[in-house]
Amino acid sequence: MRCPRCSNEDPRYFYKGRQGYYCRKCVRFKRILLEDVLAPKEYEIEKEAGEARLSYKLTPQQEVIARACLAYVRDFDVLLWCVTGAGKTELTIKAISAFLKEGCKVAYAISRREVVLELSGRFKKIFPFAKVVTLCEGFSYPDTGDLIVCTTHQLYRFPKTFDLLILDEVDAFPFKGDEVLNNIALNSVKGHIIYSTATIDPKTSELIKRRPTKILRLTKRPHGYPLIVPKIIYGPKIVNLIKLYFYLKRSDQQVIVFAKSKEETFKIYSYFKHFLSITYVYSDLKERSEHIKAFKDKRYQFLVATTVMERGITIKGVNVVIVDHLKGVFDKASIIQMAGRVGRSFEMPSGEVLVLANHYDKELKSAIKEIKDANLSVL
Ligand SMILES: [Zn+2]
Repeated sequence: MRCPRCSNEDPRYFYKGRQGYYCRKCVRFKRILLEDVLAPKEYEIEKEAGEARLSYKLTPQQEVIARACLAYVRDFDVLLWCVTGAGKTELTIKAISAFLKEGCKVAYAISRREVVLELSGRFKKIFPFAKVVTLCEGFSYPDTGDLIVCTTHQLYRFPKTFDLLILDEVDAFPFKGDEVLNNIALNSVKGHIIYSTATIDPKTSELIKRRPTKILRLTKRPHGYPLIVPKIIYGPKIVNLIKLYFYLKRSDQQVIVFAKSKEETFKIYSYFKHFLSITYVYSDLKERSEHIKAFKDKRYQFLVATTVMERGITIKGVNVVIVDHLKGVFDKASIIQMAGRVGRSFEMPSGEVLVLANHYDKELKSAIKEIKDANLSVL
């Protein structure tokens, strides 16, 4: 027995209903019977949809990788392994454009809803003649057009449909290590996949090894400046909080302070709210978008956040402090992503990443090593 949608073969997940056996493993995407045949989604791509307009030029390194990616993806899957801020979305434009021009079906999928909304706005500008379809919580219709931009959750609508699927931030929660989401993504493709990420972890490499994949590595940001290497300041928790206060007090730039949980996020905010221009955000906060927008609009100088802010967000000239008081709470990927918020723009290509810690664990060590290695690399 094998589920036609999520490829589950574990008999414990098959239940017998009135109409026959169904799979419980992916039942959150509507009930599916074992004998159901999932038909590919049929729709036509408009001829001019693939015309791309980028308002800036790719750097020579980006150009080389974008071309190689297009060449490889005809016959293989491709992994774009690029440092934070290297412009990995831009690297996929050539391939998307070429496939759309041939009338092929293309989707760009990523875990987080906010990033889907931001990206579909960008794609509408880059592909002005394409009907860009946004699919995520709150946006479910129409679900066909020329270019689908969606959360990885929405791929269940497209069995064996795409000639090209871009799976961005393939190591991000909740896609990372979620067997059902992983299999639904693989099952939505009849052609090839471009995976992209800044940080490879064991779960991601396991997924990528399932199909023949070429790896392309980009270690330089478009402005050519090195990645910011975190500085670690050791001390007991209470001393570190005092140091944090004085650091923020002296700072003339915007700073994101990353904390380990929503409780700690709120605590740090509460300690400092009467003395500093500060706001906070965590993933299930109702006013999440408003708080992020207020920080982006510079109505607050400081933002305390959980890892909800670690990816897909670019704020010019921001510095980062990571409050790391519990071993193993932040993994290597998280630390690299949080540090990766700094120095992304051409106007402000440098900055500062501080880690206030009371330990030096292997995650912190390997994150710093990977950042240093990328800075030493000539590619
Ligand atoms: Zn299933």
